[in-house]
Amino acid sequence: MKFLASIAALSLLAVAPAFAQGQDFSKVEEVVTNLGHNMYAVTGAGGNTTVAVGSDAVIVVDTQFAPVYDKLKAAITGLSPLPVKFVINTHYHGDHTGGNEAFAKAGATLVAYETLPDRMLHPFPGPGGPGVPAPAGALPTRLYSGGSTTVTIPGVTADLVHPAPAHTNTDTIVLFKAANVISTGDIVGSAAYPNIDVASGGGIDGMIAGADYVIAHADAGTKIVPGHGPVTDKAGVIAYRAMLATARDRIAKAKAAGQTEDQVAADTSLLADLDAKWKAPGNAPPRFPRLVYESVK
Ligand SMILES: [Zn+2]
Repeated sequence: MKFLASIAALSLLAVAPAFAQGQDFSKVEEVVTNLGHNMYAVTGAGGNTTVAVGSDAVIVVDTQFAPVYDKLKAAITGLSPLPVKFVINTHYHGDHTGGNEAFAKAGATLVAYETLPDRMLHPFPGPGGPGVPAPAGALPTRLYSGGSTTVTIPGVTADLVHPAPAHTNTDTIVLFKAANVISTGDIVGSAAYPNIDVASGGGIDGMIAGADYVIAHADAGTKIVPGHGPVTDKAGVIAYRAMLATARDRIAKAKAAGQTEDQVAADTSLLADLDAKWKAPGNAPPRFPRLVYESVK
């Protein structure tokens, strides 16, 4: 029972960012980063969006929070007047899928890994109430199973890869090989400790494996769009991967020595050197060590 209770508590923490409580969406500005080769990163509210412009249509990866759809759509239209033909979701969280329904209504086909719609339909309870199932129109309809699939429009090929469960069990990494761009979703973060949705099948070992996959498919010129934080590169992901591995090793050692999750979370010296770079302001009490502790084998 204690185990179940702790998993339930963890799931609240794991999905909390998707609710972005108190965020004033009217103040949000969509900021565009040119990635070259008719590709762009668009940062607004929620996870980063990637835009690939082909010769007669556009592919979009992730749709931020629902209330900023009009701003996100305006930013994309500013890059190209062509229709958005495909929207790819890197995972099911609401800060990456909020604009899905509006994009679908405007004619886009929503693409995701096969496990994703069920997670959107059966979300975990949020802070202060039950989870709200996504509307039917927000659910991806073009699903893939197995390890990978390809989405193409004239001029753009997107390779979708489902790694072993990492951030969730709905993850997709998107590789635009011709443009040398990779969209990682929340498997990679460039500015802060990542969230790991342990209740949805995510775990620290999968996060490390996912980062390894990105590193193995990048070169010095690859532009990497993380789930959150500025556009990064292979060296940035190598540093991030080292942080994950260091945290994993220290917390696994503490857990094996019999320390409880609360003890590990309260030990501010354990990750002090990593905290200096990766602990976001206000990110307290620290969730990251708890998520590593819960998922470490
Ligand atoms: Zn997420």
